[in-house]
Amino acid sequence: MTDRLYYHDPFLYEFEAEVREQTDTPRPALILDRTAFYPASGGQVHDTGWILAGDQKSRVTEVADAEDGRVVHYLEAPVRDLKPGTRIRGQIDPTRRRDHMQQHSGQHVLSAAFVRLFDMPTVSFHMGDDYCSIDLDTPNVSKEQIESAERLANEIILENRPVDIRFVTRDEAGKLGLRKIPQTERDELRLIDIREFDLTACGGTHVRQTGQIGCILLRKAEKVRQGWRVEFIAGQRAVATARRDYTTLTEAASLFSAHIYDLPQQVRKSLDEIRSLRKQREQSLEELAEAQAAAFLAETPELNGRKLVVRTFSDKEMTFVKLLGQKLTRLSPNVVALLGTKSPQPALVFAQSAGQPSDMSALLKKVMATLGGRGGGSKDMAQGGAPNGDGMEAALENVSASLRA
Ligand SMILES: [Zn+2]
Repeated sequence: MTDRLYYHDPFLYEFEAEVREQTDTPRPALILDRTAFYPASGGQVHDTGWILAGDQKSRVTEVADAEDGRVVHYLEAPVRDLKPGTRIRGQIDPTRRRDHMQQHSGQHVLSAAFVRLFDMPTVSFHMGDDYCSIDLDTPNVSKEQIESAERLANEIILENRPVDIRFVTRDEAGKLGLRKIPQTERDELRLIDIREFDLTACGGTHVRQTGQIGCILLRKAEKVRQGWRVEFIAGQRAVATARRDYTTLTEAASLFSAHIYDLPQQVRKSLDEIRSLRKQREQSLEELAEAQAAAFLAETPELNGRKLVVRTFSDKEMTFVKLLGQKLTRLSPNVVALLGTKSPQPALVFAQSAGQPSDMSALLKKVMATLGGRGGGSKDMAQGGAPNGDGMEAALENVSASLRA
């Protein structure tokens, strides 16, 4: 068993220890008689840091709990001449540890706040690189409840209550009314006692006073399978996130020349305008297609009982070309339209009036094979995209000639 120094002093960032074992496979790992490094456990993320031996310094990239109760320190590179009994020094990355302590202690306060206010127990805790979350066992949680829990949690932080570490037997713990008792064989339990607010069993690293959490900010709440997931961030992370939010909002607001608090109203207004313009545009396109179809039909002579309209546009959208195909074939009962556009997206639309004998889909597929594109549709209407506009006019002329023959 490795002696865990962080159990008693989570602010111990440097320590001395004796090597028990160093292994190389599958990757360099070190086992010590004692350690201040926290291994990944109980939702809290592991520490990183350095191992110093003589003039060598190796980075600790990951720390894990082995099944036999030993703590395994994974190293970036093995340390030379490290035998059992060698004295080394360990250094924890203090910024990372402080951040973890703020998030994790913040979670204790927040979980207790949800229990005290609304009797909503926390069933799991997750700590990520960006945000943390707790899962509450509740069928529902309102925006007001989220805000109340956030307020109470921040009051407890402002009151700067002591956070004590106590060790008790399982029997004693049973009489203390803990928020959570872990499923473990061990008889001794480590309790984290936030004075007159929360008492729970936990093996993690915590601040000494709630004030060291700094603050807690709740963000997203979403329904998950077993209840509600509430995202939060504490301390410096909360400040960094608020800073990022503000920067993003300011950038968006400057686009509207508006104050950030007027953004929703501005965005709503713009979306309404876009919707209305889109509607106007659709109507204009429809009118344009109808007029153009009529003009094309007027200037196209009838040949063998049908009118063959062949047109390639240099800059029409697919939507318009399709619309034109529909108008042409509906305005007159004997039309075959072979239409193409070279940009913005090279595309072809083949259409015929209902009852005409050709197969637009088959024709289009044949042309697409020569242009290197893909497409399909029905007997009367087919469409497809080509990689570019090269050869489009010639291809349409070929189809048109075969239809005239
Ligand atoms: Zn804890």
